[in-house]
Amino acid sequence: MPTSLLIDRINAVLPQTQCTKCGYDGCRPYARAIALDNAAINRCPPGGQQGVQALARLLDRPEPELDSSCGEHLPLQVAVIDEAHCIGCTLCIQACPVDAIVGANKLMHTVLADDCTGCDLCVAPCPVDCIIMVDAGHEWTAQHADTARTRYEQRQHRLQALHHESSGLAARTLANKAPVAALASSDSTTRQAVIAQALERARARRQKA
Ligand code: SF4
Ligand code: SF4
Ligand code: SF4
Repeated sequence: MPTSLLIDRINAVLPQTQCTKCGYDGCRPYARAIALDNAAINRCPPGGQQGVQALARLLDRPEPELDSSCGEHLPLQVAVIDEAHCIGCTLCIQACPVDAIVGANKLMHTVLADDCTGCDLCVAPCPVDCIIMVDAGHEWTAQHADTARTRYEQRQHRLQALHHESSGLAARTLANKAPVAALASSDSTTRQAVIAQALERARARRQKA
């Protein structure tokens, strides 16, 4: 089978939440690693044991237990933004792999619940902790996966088109993630300082308005 077809078929089995819990930058990069680098097939918590089984069948490999170091298979959640506290910093938009958040710089942001994959990648970057994950109240279906795959690919194409010159998609993605990751991994004093500065800027804007 041609490699690209194999990657497509593996990708079609993956749930497309694009959560990166497998350790790769989305479902397709994980599919590539399975096809090209013989990566383990048990690293996708959203797919659960059923997903591992489907991959084992597709690839005619033994079926291992889901690797719990990647996370647990949990009921679907979606993100909700406490709009009263949002300062419009756009960090969550940069973190969302499927463009499920709308908003503009310095304006309130909102999650499009129907398009949210529950990946929770937007939660850690928020400097004022105003994004929470709540039970979605529905299952993740094949139709959700199709929509998420399309939205993820559209975002990748858009980033590539915008930054095709020297940076490349991977570099651009990392550049987007750098401030996000730095903030998420900073110590609590730094984080509190960033939050205080953000709140101060928001207060100043409100006073000006
Ligand atoms: S759903 Fe998450 S863990 Fe599973 S393959 Fe996609 S990005 Fe990786
Ligand atoms: S809104 Fe948050 S949880 Fe939902 S898909 Fe985007 S980053 Fe993931
Ligand atoms: S990261 Fe938080 S404060 Fe910033 S735009 Fe998103 S929800 Fe609002």
